[in-house]
Amino acid sequence: MIPFNVPYLTGAEGDYIADALRIRRFSGDGPYTRRATSMIEEITTVSKPLLTTSCTHALEMTASLLDIGPGDEVIMPSFTFVSTANAFVVRGAVPVFVDIRVDTWNIDERLIERAITSRTRAIVVVHYAGVACEMDEILAIAAAHDLTVIEDNAHGFGGFYRGRPLGTLGGLATLSFHETKNIQCGEGGALLVAGTDLADRAEIIREKGTNRSKFLRGEVDKYTWVDVGSSYLPSDLLAAFLTAQLESFDSIQHARTLIWRRYSASLSDWVRACGALVQRVDTDRQHPAHLFGIVHRNIETRNRFIEHMARGGVKTTFHYVPLHSAPFGRSLIGKISLPVTDFVAAGLVRLPIYPDLERASLDHIVDLVLDFTA
Ligand SMILES: *Cc1c(COP(=O)(O)O)cnc(C)c1O
Repeated sequence: MIPFNVPYLTGAEGDYIADALRIRRFSGDGPYTRRATSMIEEITTVSKPLLTTSCTHALEMTASLLDIGPGDEVIMPSFTFVSTANAFVVRGAVPVFVDIRVDTWNIDERLIERAITSRTRAIVVVHYAGVACEMDEILAIAAAHDLTVIEDNAHGFGGFYRGRPLGTLGGLATLSFHETKNIQCGEGGALLVAGTDLADRAEIIREKGTNRSKFLRGEVDKYTWVDVGSSYLPSDLLAAFLTAQLESFDSIQHARTLIWRRYSASLSDWVRACGALVQRVDTDRQHPAHLFGIVHRNIETRNRFIEHMARGGVKTTFHYVPLHSAPFGRSLIGKISLPVTDFVAAGLVRLPIYPDLERASLDHIVDLVLDFTA
C-alpha cells in the first residue's frame, strides 16, 4: 500500500538533537530555537517570530493578545481544522462560520460583511492548501470595521499573495510544524506578529506572563509576573529537530511542488470528464504544495474513488468534517446552512504528496486515478 503521508526526515535531525543533548540546554529559547527562528524570519520576512508548541497554541495566543472574551464573535470558515475555532471557544468566544468559495475553497470574502455584528472582534482566514484567500478585499473589510485579521497559515508556510509572504498580511499569523505539515518537528508551531505593538506582549504571554525574555536579553535585571500567560515555548530539543527541517526548506518545497505539478498536469482532463473540481490557483499567488485535492460531484462518487484507489494499493483521505455540523459546533451555534462548505467537504479527496514518494509510485497513482470513471 502506498501510504497517504510519510513524514519527511532530512537526516540531520538526529545529529542536531545529539548536539542539543551535548550542550545540555533543554528548555525553550536556547541556541537551536534561535537558529530555527532566524530561518523562519528569513522565509516569512516577519521579524522575531515566536516558536510555539503548536499552531493550536499560537492561535490561543492570538486570542489572549486580542483579549478576546465571553460573547465576543470571531468570523472564520467552517471548512477548517478544529483548532481554528477552539482557540477562541476556550476563552468563551463564539465562532461565526462563513461559507467558502466553490473555486478556491477559501472563506468567501463576499459573505464576510453581513456576518459582522457589534460583537465581532476578529476575522480568521485559513489559506487552504496554502493558496491565499482574497486578502485585499478581506483587509479592506477589516479596516472598515476596525477588526483584526488573523491568518491561520498552517498550510501556507512559504506561500505568497501578490508578492507578499503569507503570514505578513493580517496583523497576526500562525504556523504549524505538526508531523502532517510540510516542515515538521512532530508537534510545533509559530506565532508571527507583524505589528510591532503586539510583539512585546506576545513574548510575555508565551513566557507564563513574565518578562523573562527581556531578562535573558539583559534588558531588565530581574523577571516577574507582568501579564496573563501560559507556557507556549517548545523545548530546544524540538527546535533542534526543526532546525534540520528548515535548513532543507528549499529542497522539501521543490520535491512537493514537482509532485503537485505532475498531478495538476496529468489529471486536468480527467477531472473535467468526471465533473469534478480542483482548487483554483490564480497567477497572483504561489502556494507551497501542501496538498492536492479533488472535489468529486458528490459523496458517493468520492467514496467510490477512495475504494478504487485502495483496491489499487493507494491510500487516499479526506477532511474536514465541517465545524458547523460537528457535534460540538452544533451544540454551540445550532443548525446553520453552509451549502458550499457541505458540497466541498462531501466531495473532497486528497492524493499522497510527500518528498519520499518515489517516481514509480507517483506514476502508479496517476495511472490508477485515470482508470476511475465517475
Ligand atoms: C494542522 C492545522 C492546525 C493545527 O496545527 P497544530 O500544530 O497541530 O496545532 C490548525 N489549523 C489548520 C488549518 C491546520 O491544518
